[in-house]
Amino acid sequence: MEIERLGPDATFCFDCRVDRSCLNACCTDLHLVLTPYDVLRLRRRLALPSADFLRDHGEAIEMPQTRFPILQLQMRRSDRLCPWATGAGCTVYRDRPGACRAYPLGRTAQIGDRGQVVEQVVLQREPHCLGFDGGPQWTAARWFENQELAPYSTWADRFSALVARVRLSGRTLNEQQRASVRLALYELDRFREFIKQRQLLRQLRVARDRHRQILDDDEAALSFGFEWLALLLGGLSSDHTTRM
Ligand code: SF4
Ligand code: SF4
Repeated sequence: MEIERLGPDATFCFDCRVDRSCLNACCTDLHLVLTPYDVLRLRRRLALPSADFLRDHGEAIEMPQTRFPILQLQMRRSDRLCPWATGAGCTVYRDRPGACRAYPLGRTAQIGDRGQVVEQVVLQREPHCLGFDGGPQWTAARWFENQELAPYSTWADRFSALVARVRLSGRTLNEQQRASVRLALYELDRFREFIKQRQLLRQLRVARDRHRQILDDDEAALSFGFEWLALLLGGLSSDHTTRM
């Protein structure tokens, strides 16, 4: 694979279509990290309880040193193909993960000294991908807009910021902390039950007008999950925690 950094004004030609002979070559044998927002969108799309989603589609791994829980998409055992790849394309296309949307670009976000997001974009040319064979000209910004990546990037940056803060704190998460991360980021249905049982919103003095939203809306619950983890993991307070 050839990888090159792509500046904001650099362009590339690309056109992916389901009638290409390379269909699904890009959906095979991936080590695809699912962000909490990827899980939220896929689980909602598939209408699966989190326990079923994690059992059937998630592969739990941990970051080195911090042991921060990460989720990878399980490929099919028989042929290492993504479970949603078919001869007619991706069956979860409208809710496909952020990494699938960004491809053939890759986007990483580092958190700078002052907490700012530093974005880096690379272009990945894989020999099997025929999409570079003509097609419209894109900049990274136009490609990301076309692929509706914006909410995925926003949530991915929030995730990266939390991971980076834990790493910079130099700690290794214990089992209870890892369980809390899994609950708040990847198991929103169970997290809601936990919130109710522990009366967490009242205990943390979360503004009353947010209660119903957190209990009813997936994005609001995930946002609260990030805030709660920042508090729980200690010394990780951020802009988000001050808005409870
Ligand atoms: S989710 Fe869709 S686009 Fe992403 S790897 Fe699977 S089939 Fe391919
Ligand atoms: S053109 Fe590239 S991205 Fe599109 S199906 Fe082929 S390998 Fe996948």
